[in-house]
Amino acid sequence: VADAVLRGRPLISRYVTLTGEGVVNPRNLETLIGTSCSELIGQAGGYTGKAQRLIMGGPMMGFTLHSDNVPVVKASNCLLAASAREAPDPGAASACIRCGKCAEVCPVSLLPQQMYWYARAKDLEKTQEYNLFDCIECGCCSHVCPSHIPLVQYYRFAKNESWDLEREKKSAELARQRHEAKLARIARLEAEKKERAQKKRAALARSSAAKRGVGTEADPKKAAIEAALKRAAEKKAQLASAGIKPQNTEHLSDAQQRQIRAADARRVSSAETPTGEAPEQER
Ligand code: SF4
Ligand code: SF4
Repeated sequence: VADAVLRGRPLISRYVTLTGEGVVNPRNLETLIGTSCSELIGQAGGYTGKAQRLIMGGPMMGFTLHSDNVPVVKASNCLLAASAREAPDPGAASACIRCGKCAEVCPVSLLPQQMYWYARAKDLEKTQEYNLFDCIECGCCSHVCPSHIPLVQYYRFAKNESWDLEREKKSAELARQRHEAKLARIARLEAEKKERAQKKRAALARSSAAKRGVGTEADPKKAAIEAALKRAAEKKAQLASAGIKPQNTEHLSDAQQRQIRAADARRVSSAETPTGEAPEQER
């Protein structure tokens, strides 16, 4: 932690204990992560004739390596080249006899036999109900089990399966969310397309109505013009019914206006003269 915080150096090495009657010079070595176990054993003088099993980790929590051609990882704290006396072969596992010894030694007060039962049946939900993830994999239960059941291996298996299941659930949930977002996007694009088409149709209808000279309710300017024209027509009709015709003579001179009035009077008198009579000649 000090290397990372004070010197900015990531975890690239760790101390590994090489021990057991199967190694010539047991010792602690600082080694780069990724170094081969066979290389480390070579640094410790190689194997003695007593080496029976190579265990990564301690005698209780460790696991047997089937080859020393594996790398050191950040969790590799010990490499045990055990003799037959140090790590006797437990023999084949037999059935659980429900003796309860595993539960007696569990430092976390779990029920190892129940977790074993459900892990073996791959009932992962039940293993979690029995607090599988509280297990610190200390190996005490396996050590005392008279049936030599590799209990910790079952718990590791169940944990890995549970993590896989959780990952699958998360990825299925993400896929569901992506699918719903896609459907929503398609629906939104479809709605926008329909709206655009409706607007286009309305614009076309307005333009064709304008070409035909028909006003539309949607064009208030045009409606106002039509209303003004209507009012003017009504006023004109009222004046006509009262016998008043528009003269538009205000801008003319008095002489011109007199001539117009005289012409109007002649028109009226000729219209009132009976047929066959000649109108009186103007002197
Ligand atoms: S110690 Fe072994 S045999 Fe006994 S209850 Fe636990 S799992 Fe079963
Ligand atoms: S390995 Fe787990 S279940 Fe077994 S004794 Fe240790 S903590 Fe308890």
